[in-house]
Amino acid sequence: MTQVRTRFAPSPTGFIHLGNIRSALYPWAFARANQGVFILRIEDTDEERSSQAAVDVILEGMQWLGLNHDEGPFYQMQRMDRYKQVVQEMLDKGLIYPCYMSSAELDALRERQMANKEKPRYDGTWRPEPGKTLPPVPAGVKPVLRFKNPQGGSVVWEDKVKGRIEISNDELDDLVIARPAAEGSDSIVGTPTYNFCVVVDDMDMGITHVIRGDDHVNNTPRQINILRALGQEPPVYAHLPTVLNEQGEKMSKRHGAKAVTQYRDEGYLADAIVNYLARLGWSHGDDEIFSRAQLVEWFNLDHLGKSAGQFDEAKLRWVAQQHMKTADDALLAKLVSEQWAQRGVAVPASLQAGDKLQAMCALFKDRCATTVELADWLNMYVASVAAPAEELAAQVTDAVKPAIAALATRLETAAWDKAAINQAIKDTIGEFGIKMPQLAIPVRLLVCGRAQTPSVDAVLALFERDAVIQRLRA
Ligand code: GLU
Repeated sequence: MTQVRTRFAPSPTGFIHLGNIRSALYPWAFARANQGVFILRIEDTDEERSSQAAVDVILEGMQWLGLNHDEGPFYQMQRMDRYKQVVQEMLDKGLIYPCYMSSAELDALRERQMANKEKPRYDGTWRPEPGKTLPPVPAGVKPVLRFKNPQGGSVVWEDKVKGRIEISNDELDDLVIARPAAEGSDSIVGTPTYNFCVVVDDMDMGITHVIRGDDHVNNTPRQINILRALGQEPPVYAHLPTVLNEQGEKMSKRHGAKAVTQYRDEGYLADAIVNYLARLGWSHGDDEIFSRAQLVEWFNLDHLGKSAGQFDEAKLRWVAQQHMKTADDALLAKLVSEQWAQRGVAVPASLQAGDKLQAMCALFKDRCATTVELADWLNMYVASVAAPAEELAAQVTDAVKPAIAALATRLETAAWDKAAINQAIKDTIGEFGIKMPQLAIPVRLLVCGRAQTPSVDAVLALFERDAVIQRLRA
């Protein structure tokens, strides 16, 4: 069997959002699932709209999500000579031809066709045929080059998402594959057009599976015809339905989509985003939560969804929460440290060393969807806290103050671990004849700055003893 070779071919215009990057995830996962090769190709031929900043966001987003490529990035602008070489070869073989129709003539043709209620299309005036006399070549005009699309018959492919697609060749006119050469150039070959560059790239890069957005489905029959003219068998195609935003519009920057890297900055785990995006257009039975390794083990092109996936923030948060629960504590500790570093929070050496921060992450991660939230929770360990004054007044009453003082005294000499702290709390509530929450809630407010936390003994054990006593006595 030939080796699977897939590609992600973004145009670096604007920024890359979740809907776009899904078109990287699927070919990546398919290549990984089949021990194949994943190629990154930057389609930067639209020079006005392309930017290095957009390329950087693509590279950063892919790196963050772990969608590492094996070959590339290849930049189309750097491959122009190669495209022109293929144009020249096709010209030599009579597979393409010069067309001198001016834009005024093309406009007039289109108007005539529209008036006759016909579909506007190039009429083949300059297409050479045996026995046909072509019009005289106008002086000083640089032609475009058109592809001699096959006449009659149809283009058929089995799309992995859409099923069998058949397009009659009569619907496809002779596509312009190169613009007019520059004034004064001695070559007839100008800048190749988008569809042509894609075909040459897919051919040269040996792409076996084209997995891309279905906004390209209309290009496919043209690309297949050009590939065949070049003596190539077309790859397998899978055209993914669009991703819609929560309002049901096509996801786009204009409609409020966020750049992929913003999810990183908001503290989402890369594996959670990968999981969420994988499910937004593909399924493995009823599995909602899976790891990257499981995705790579399971991914195939046979369970791609046919209808548009709709982004759902609440579901993303839920998926993110599930991943936080099982995330590696060492990874979380690293991400929380990065969060703090960004906020200018100094992390005490006692946390940096050893696995203390990891233990904190383990204790609080169940409550969070993101590492930003986790860093917020763990703030109590690195910065002073202030519970809302009203809550303090309601909970830290004169009646309970002696119990708090007694607990502080017990904690001065208790062994500093969860069990001993638990014993000190129990002894204190026993001594004062109060119930657990009557002591635990004020203690939380004073030490943690909030009334709800995981089990109070576990939370306290992760503080330095002195900090706890100081906050209880404050
Ligand atoms: N550059 C195209 C885009 O960003 C993708 C082309 C392709 O995958 O064939 O939409």
